[in-house]
This record gives sequence, structure tokens and C-alpha cells, in this order.
Amino acid sequence: MPLTPKQLQQLRGVLTKRREALEAETHADAAKARGDVYSQTTGPVADTGDEATADLISDVENAELSRDLQELREIDAALARMAKGSYGTCIDCGEEIGLERLHSEPAAVRCFKCQSVHEKTFLQPGKPTL
Ligand SMILES: [Zn+2]
Repeated sequence: MPLTPKQLQQLRGVLTKRREALEAETHADAAKARGDVYSQTTGPVADTGDEATADLISDVENAELSRDLQELREIDAALARMAKGSYGTCIDCGEEIGLERLHSEPAAVRCFKCQSVHEKTFLQPGKPTL
């Protein structure tokens, strides 16, 4: 059963809200991380670039930030699929993902079955490679 426009709209609302929260979070994290770096550094930080800064960010914060950024990318992809009309279709088998799964995971790209297979194959739960 395809998603109704109303269901799509509702899911879009969930995604948009989550996106805003994530964006605020990642901005705060990035600012905090930069702040920490600067406070630990004596002298001016000139031309170090993002790469050098990233090296100094603690691993924990870095992992948290990249997880948030990953989720942000997944949400953006989901919103793009909504715009294209392919949202809610499994990228592996082409079947519908199912409303129940989309409600618990609005940015899901695979149906439950394909996701389990994918996670077993790549051993990276929650981290789709696409
Ligand atoms: Zn599937």
C-alpha cells in the first residue's frame, strides 16, 4: 500500500524537525570543539585548516559529530527522495519499506528484511554505505 499524501506530509514533518534539531546540535558541537581547540592552543592559529583542527578534536566528540552529520545526510537524502517521489521504496528490492518502519525510522532506505541482510553483510549496524 503506497503512502498517502497525508502520511508523506507527516513523515516529512518528522524529518524536517529532526533535521533542525540535528543541525543545531552539530553547529553547537562544532563550535564547542573549535572552542576547546583554541583554548588549548597558545599563539595564533593561522592557516591550520579544518583538517588540522579536526585532528585536535577529541575522538569522542568527533565520533558524536560524525554520527550526527551522517544522520543529517540520511535525512537530506530522504527529503530528496520525497521530492523525487521515490521515498518509502526499498533501494535493494524495490518493495515498499512499510509505514511502521518509516515511523520508527523515517530516513530508512531499506525494508526491514534488506536492512537485516545489509547489516549482516557489512557488519555496520545503522551505517548504510549509501
Ligand atoms: Zn528490501
